[in-house]
Amino acid sequence: MTDVSVTKEDTVPPGDLVVLKDVNKHFGALHVLQDIDLTITRGEVVVVIGPSGSGKSTLCRTINRLETIDAGTITIDGKPLPQEGKALARLRADVGMVFQSFNLFAHKTVLENVMLGQIKVRRTDKKQAEEKARALLDRVGVGTQADKYPAQLSGGQQQRVAIARALAMDPKVMLFDEPTSALDPEMINEVLEVMQQLARDGMTMIVVTHEMGFARSAANRVVFMADGRIVEEATPDQFFSNPRSDRAKDFLSKIL
Ligand code: ADP
Ligand code: MG
Repeated sequence: MTDVSVTKEDTVPPGDLVVLKDVNKHFGALHVLQDIDLTITRGEVVVVIGPSGSGKSTLCRTINRLETIDAGTITIDGKPLPQEGKALARLRADVGMVFQSFNLFAHKTVLENVMLGQIKVRRTDKKQAEEKARALLDRVGVGTQADKYPAQLSGGQQQRVAIARALAMDPKVMLFDEPTSALDPEMINEVLEVMQQLARDGMTMIVVTHEMGFARSAANRVVFMADGRIVEEATPDQFFSNPRSDRAKDFLSKIL
């Protein structure tokens, strides 16, 4: 297909939302990300799996610039990652992030948690921010908890608030780094269901998880990492039924 439009970002096709090219990062002597090439297209759900220490969290953290990179490029929606300042704050808002530990503001109510970024970063007026926060809290099933503080909620509820808070910024892409790993087993599904719904609604998502059921049902693509490299990329069907690399076979034999 020929793209006749000429823009200064003409190297990035319009469907490509997150593009990592030849990304490398070290922590001292540790080469934690090695020659990472990864393109996430709009609406795609990519599940990243791999052994502990393989660089999955670091990969997520570089995408919203919680970590810098040593070499390579990362573009979000055609724009290179800003270095600092307001542009960086806006970029972070475009890239919603949900962590293993829910990271809610403990001294703010649930409602305030979901309003805050809208007001501070998006400059939304208070009334609108509250309306949107309430709608999002309803959407993730915790509307009745709006006036409580995070510590008064279960882990599953807190994580759903964290998802609502990220969504309140109208992110272009959502990153999830093991969002259910810290949860009691009975709360895992309530969080995965919210994520499933988000995927069905067309959100672009990068999800680090060990929940293979989620990967099978929600992912368009599985990215398998080991030792800081992307070792294998495949559809969930291909990956789970016929992994190509020994590293992936070994990994799957331990977790399935
Ligand atoms: P994963 O999420 O796949 O378990 P991480 O990205 O958290 O892997 O970590 C990859 C490697 O980088 C590990 O060996 C980890 O100890 C190391 N690492 C992560 N963060 C830092 C840091 N801030 N400083 C030094 N080493 C780090
Ligand atoms: Mg991790």
